[in-house]
Amino acid sequence: MPFTPFHLGFGAFVFALCPFIDVTAILIGTIIIDIEGVLYLLFKIGALHGYTHSLLGVMIYLIPCTFFSWVFYKLYMKIANKKFRFNWLYSGISSLLGLVSHIIFDGSLYPEMMIFYPFSQAQGHLLGIMSYQTIIIILISMFAVGALIIAVKSLLRFKFEKNVLLSYNLLKPITNIEIEEDTIHTES
Ligand SMILES: [Zn+2]
Repeated sequence: MPFTPFHLGFGAFVFALCPFIDVTAILIGTIIIDIEGVLYLLFKIGALHGYTHSLLGVMIYLIPCTFFSWVFYKLYMKIANKKFRFNWLYSGISSLLGLVSHIIFDGSLYPEMMIFYPFSQAQGHLLGIMSYQTIIIILISMFAVGALIIAVKSLLRFKFEKNVLLSYNLLKPITNIEIEEDTIHTES
């Protein structure tokens, strides 16, 4: 459980590299599975790494994860007063990537994991592929590199939008062109 936040590093890294990734969906996907651990620790329901810590088990989170992302974007776009576009396929893929990554990293650490449940109850298929220290280093590095790439991208986009607005304002009095504010924004 203390390991849960480290999973976010994978989401940040993949989002930084792949523009089509739904950042909300992948980030939720990387950590939502540990609801199982929370239920176990608080109410002794199930196991710390039980049935949903498997490749098939994580699928029960796929729809909720994608739906949470949809709700988040809907609220965000409403507050920001922007047009709302949501790609369910990309968000579903993003959720799936986050969910499966959790299984891979956890599988390396916990001997009780049955990643092929319900087809097999054998445990520890991935155990020891990476050491605890290696996984921590990988996930922290992924977070740091991902955050850096996102920061650089945001800075470049901000500069680009500023330049577009500047040239628009310079052109306007000369050409008397009419451009709607919406067409200037590059953000989707
Ligand atoms: Zn877990």
